[in-house]
Amino acid sequence: CGLVTDDPILYRARVAGGGQALFEIATDRQLTYAQLDLRIARCAGLLSAMLGARRDGARVAMLARNSMDSIVLAFACQRAGAIYVPLNWRLNAAELWPILADCTPALLIHDEEFSVVVASLADADAEMTVISTDGPTSLAARIEASLPMKPVPADADGACVLLYTSGTTGQPKGVVITRRNAFFAGINFSFVGEIGPQTVALCDLPFFHTIGLIAVARTTLMLGGTLVISDRFTPARTLAALADRQRAITHYFAVPQIALALRNDPAYSAAALSGLHALFVGGAPLTQALIESYLADGVALVNGYGMSEAGTVLHVPLDRRAVQDNPGSVGLPAPLLDIRIVGEDGRDVGEGEIGEFWLRGPAVTPGYWNKPLESEGAFTDGWYRTGDLGRREANGFYRIVDRLKDMYISGGENVYPAEVEAALASHPDILDVAVVGISDVRWGECGIAYVVLRPGAAATAEAIAVHCAARLAAFKRPTRILFVEAIPRTASGKVQKHVLRQLHSETLQRQA
Ligand code: ATP
Ligand code: MG
Repeated sequence: CGLVTDDPILYRARVAGGGQALFEIATDRQLTYAQLDLRIARCAGLLSAMLGARRDGARVAMLARNSMDSIVLAFACQRAGAIYVPLNWRLNAAELWPILADCTPALLIHDEEFSVVVASLADADAEMTVISTDGPTSLAARIEASLPMKPVPADADGACVLLYTSGTTGQPKGVVITRRNAFFAGINFSFVGEIGPQTVALCDLPFFHTIGLIAVARTTLMLGGTLVISDRFTPARTLAALADRQRAITHYFAVPQIALALRNDPAYSAAALSGLHALFVGGAPLTQALIESYLADGVALVNGYGMSEAGTVLHVPLDRRAVQDNPGSVGLPAPLLDIRIVGEDGRDVGEGEIGEFWLRGPAVTPGYWNKPLESEGAFTDGWYRTGDLGRREANGFYRIVDRLKDMYISGGENVYPAEVEAALASHPDILDVAVVGISDVRWGECGIAYVVLRPGAAATAEAIAVHCAARLAAFKRPTRILFVEAIPRTASGKVQKHVLRQLHSETLQRQA
């Protein structure tokens, strides 16, 4: 794929070096494409000097909030032949430890705020060199003191990023992203997100997940737009940035919980969002109520579906009619991706029928780091099996139904917990809910609903059961409703059903 695949920033610096590439909200610093390119070259020089002959394929991990230098480091790894591993700073040391043991980084760069965690991790791995983002020997100081490395031709199929999955269904898995994958994921997102040189994208989603790093940051920079980096999300900060007409932000990206927090904030006003080309949301199921509350303000919340393994897969087109006319849809496929919906018998299902999404294309990962069995198990005849269930409607729009792992069969009928959860969530007293299938002597499997009530609400299990009976067929209704204080979620807000299933089996063991 030539030079562009190898190094999109180098290309941008050559064709439009004076254009603004980055702006960092926390410091007011900015970089043009020419300055970004030089900084990446120096950082690549630093990696080269520090890693020497070990550089090729070496993992360079980063435990830091979003910053200019995390972007510089990501592209410098790509230029130097190393692999950038952005770590989830919301995890604790015990959760980070298996990830570090899996990817064995030669370097770990961290923000001072994570130094206690890093100290315990570094104790366990004497081989790893640790660098702070602060102080006289910081990453930034070392970059400035380094000589720029000359770009060299790179293998399009070499890894440039190792991205750990969210850990929704179990331990996070390291997804290998090659230069080719990253390039084509960027092209895919540039189409669905209408990204180009005029784009000014605000990103406060962390760079350790695919949306922040691949969709927003990489795509915006590949296409010559401006990336506005925020190191933390607070509704007030985001709303102020969006309302700043001088900054003129055109694209903002949220996960459903962030979109909800923005909408509920006292400082929220539809006017603040009026300069946006679109308000993007993705990564987890979205409620119809939220879509409608934004639509009432004239804001189209465009839902996108994707994953670490493939980048953006499906996306609602960026216009209000598409959002209005296709409630609950995740839209249309990205252009450079083949998508099938496959039934249990391994054949493609018909229109409107539920099956698993299988994907193929140049943005799809070759597999997981260090996990040959899982990698082999995730592919059939070159198709990546996503583990997500959905269907395609007559107008070509797609819908996500649930994760295959979460579906259960009650009395011979498939039950999709997401549907049961949506029915429960429409009860005014219910703040949060998760439904899991467990084995049952009579029905094979049945559902348990874990429910968090709103503060002060007093709905009983019986009242909730009546609510379900009015909305769901008998086989879909949960057989037990359990009240809990909170639903276990990942750092990005996804429900960890394996934790609930574990909780249930522990309860059973105790009772036995
Ligand atoms: P793990 O693979 O470790 O269990 P994960 O699948 O949550 O975690 P990611 O790659 O970050 O890790 O997330 C991708 C998954 O998120 C998808 O496979 C899908 O299940 C879910 N998802 C993404 N976008 C949407 C969306 N718009 N609506 C519903 N679910 C979504
Ligand atoms: Mg996954």
